[in-house]
Order: sequence, then structure tokens, then C-alpha cells
Amino acid sequence: MDKNWSKVLDKVRDQVSYVNFKGWLNPLSAELNDNELTIFAPSAFVKETVSSRYLSLLEPAIKEIYGENTTFSIKVDPNKNTPKEVVESEPEEIFTPDIPSPMTFGLNPKYTLSNFVVGLSNNLAYAAAQAVAQNPGTSYNPLFIYGGTGVGKTHLMQAVGNVLLQKRPNIKIIYCSSERFMNDLVQSIQTKRTGEFRAKYRACDLLLIDDVQFISGRDSTQEEFFHTFNELQAKNSQIILTSDRPPQEIQKLEPRLQSRFQGGLMVDIQNPDFDTRVAILKAKCAERGEIVSEDILTLIAESMPTNARELEGKFIQIVQSAKLLGQTLTDEGVRRFLGAPIQTTQKIDHKKVIGEINHYFNIKTADLTGPRRKKELVMPRQITMYLLYEECKLPYERIGELLGGRDHTTIMHGVEKIGEAINRDREIQRMLIEIKQALQG
Ligand code: ADP
Ligand code: MG
Repeated sequence: MDKNWSKVLDKVRDQVSYVNFKGWLNPLSAELNDNELTIFAPSAFVKETVSSRYLSLLEPAIKEIYGENTTFSIKVDPNKNTPKEVVESEPEEIFTPDIPSPMTFGLNPKYTLSNFVVGLSNNLAYAAAQAVAQNPGTSYNPLFIYGGTGVGKTHLMQAVGNVLLQKRPNIKIIYCSSERFMNDLVQSIQTKRTGEFRAKYRACDLLLIDDVQFISGRDSTQEEFFHTFNELQAKNSQIILTSDRPPQEIQKLEPRLQSRFQGGLMVDIQNPDFDTRVAILKAKCAERGEIVSEDILTLIAESMPTNARELEGKFIQIVQSAKLLGQTLTDEGVRRFLGAPIQTTQKIDHKKVIGEINHYFNIKTADLTGPRRKKELVMPRQITMYLLYEECKLPYERIGELLGGRDHTTIMHGVEKIGEAINRDREIQRMLIEIKQALQG
């Protein structure tokens, strides 16, 4: 192992998410002969992934540490044939999205009201969020924000939290997904600490529950949530909920919770219209310090009739690929990059999704559906769950069947994991965009 290799890893560490660093880059080792650096990957799969995704990241670091004249190649380490038994006993939990820092109460400071672009598709939700930030706990309680993925629900909800945190530094805020709430509850029951659980959730001034649709069918969680809800409301603590659909469309939701959810203000966010898409792109440009002409932004907005997240992801991809190729962005280049306009409304066949996952990650269906918990399989499997849920609109039970008879809670968990990861992990964001693109092509 070359002693300078760890310096290369240190250089790139902050440029990828923790999980991707741990999964793909950290396992690499290297040897230097003359000016030739050989990078060793522990498996062919890691080698492929690193070759296709991380070389452009590693290259500048390698040149910096080893010198401009160093060439490098990547090989599978012949000494590392990981015994199967060991690998297979690894827990499925290995893939955990990282938590960005700095964060307070789980709030990401980058989500603010001032950097939320307002347009026709989201102005009601924005106005509601603003009102709640000004007068929490009074008129709009709960605030229920719903809409498809990537339209800015999490952003808006956390923005309210950030405003209030600034106004009242001693405020107690809890931000979590409904799944986290559920897991917390289950754990508190197992460890006989339900008292602590209740004290924690019932003591806050602002409760933000993201993606509340996931409590569908979870009876004890709904029961607990109902009581938490009542207590918070009684003492004028503000509650904000987001969901991918309105309360009446959440299946297996207790009627009393449904009526609570409907009892405040419900607002929806739609996919952004053209003008808002252009405005979002401009804002993202400014945030990232990129200078891109209005024509090009218009071009991107025209070809992407889709949500803010995909728009942002695509934009970053375009800018980065131009940089990699050392080119300035031209109309023609962007057009070529964008290819055919993307259709987001069509449902996709599940076989196509599984086929594309096989292709993209270079794994067999049998591995995807099989019981092995190797970490290289866990993330692709969870991405499959997510796509089957989001793109094919299949119920958890059906996805479980398709993936070799997995329990619906495992599927829900996987969908939620990726759903969360998308918000913070650019690498996963990019994979999903690429896979979705391939699916639509
Ligand atoms: P959701 O929770 O609805 O799935 P997010 O809140 O995670 O969506 O938004 C996805 C990404 O798009 C985030 O990076 C967010 O900052 C950005 N985004 C969404 N809507 C807007 C907007 N109106 N203005 C600026 N950025 C936005
Ligand atoms: Mg969200």
C-alpha cells in the first residue's frame, strides 16, 4: 500500500457522501511504480463503479499528491477474494444515508424561505409557510403540505423551522420523517422507555413530520401520534406535516387522524410551471456561483417539464459534464445532453425497472431478489424498491413479492431510506436521475 494514497482519499472525502466514500472509495488501495499508480479495488463491482463514477473526482487529487506526470489505472486486487460467508452475514442496515452537518434539530440550514423560489405551483404553500413562521401555533395548525416528489415540501417545512429557530433560539423543534417517529416509538417500547419518548415528542414547540403517508397501516404509531398531536395542539405548539398525497387519500389512516390532518390548513404544491422552472434554475446558478446564460437556462427549463429536484439534478449534471470536458456551455451542447424531452407522467413497467437496475449496477436479478445482504446489493435493492414505488406506483406488498418475498415493512423502509438520501446525497440523486433517464429512453 502506498503511503500517500490516504492523502488522495482525504482530498476527495468531503466531495462525496459518507456512505459512498465508505462503500466505494475507502476500500481502495494503491501502489506506485515509477510514475504509474495502480489502484486496487476489492471486487470487480467496486472497480466498475469507481471507474464509471469516481475517476474524474480522483484524478485531480492523484495529480496533486503524486504529481502531474503520474498515470494511473484501476485493477481488481488479486489478493482480495472476500470469502462469501463473511460477506453474506453483513447486516442489511449497512446502507444508511449520512446526516449532513451542521444541523440543529435535524434541520438543514440550507433550506430557507428566502431561497425558496415562489411561482404559481407553490405560492399558496409558500404563503402558508410564511404565515406559520410569523404566527406559529395559532391559525394554521396543523399545516399540511402535500405534493409529488421533489417539489419542495421538505424545503418549505424546514424553512419554517429555520425561521423560528432564528427568532427564538431556545425553541424546541423536532424534525423527523414519520418513519423515524415510528422507529423511535418501537424502540422506546422495546427498551421500556415510552415515558421518555412521550416526554420528548410532547415537549416540543414545533413538530415537523415529513412524509407522514408512511404511517399508513401502522396502528400503534397512529395511536401514539394521535395523542402527541392532541397534546401539542392543546398547548398551541405548531405542527407541520408533509405527505405525497392529501389525508383522505392516505390508505389505512385512522379516521380521527385524517380529520386532525384536515383540521388546519391543507395546501398542495404542484410541479413548477415553465417560469418557475427558469427562476429555480437562476436561483441554483446564483447559489452555486455558476454563470450560465438565460438562453441555456430557458432551454433546460423547456426540456424538463418536471419537479425542482430533477431540474436541479439535471442542471448540476450539465454544468459538471461541461466542466469535465473543459467546454463552455452552448445551446447545442446542452441540447445534445438533454436529448429527447423527458416524460414523467407515464407509468413504467416493473420489468423494465428491474432490467435497468441489472444493467446499471451490473447485477443479476437473482442477486437483487435473493436473500444475500452484501452491501453492494443493498443500495441497488433499495433503489429498486424506491423506483418500483415512485415510478411504477406499486404497493409495498407487491414490491415485496417482486423482490423475492420481502416483507412490506422492509420495502417501506427501503423506499424511505432512498427518499431521505435523495435530499442530501448528490451521488444517489445522480444515480436516480441516470436510471430514470435510461428508463424513459
Ligand atoms: P420534496 O420534499 O417535495 O420531495 P424537497 O423539498 O426535498 O422536495 O426539494 C427537492 C430539491 O429541490 C431541494 O434541493 C430543494 O431545495 C429544491 N427546491 C424545491 N422547490 C424549490 C423552490 N421552489 N425553490 C428553490 N429550490 C427548490
Ligand atoms: Mg421530502
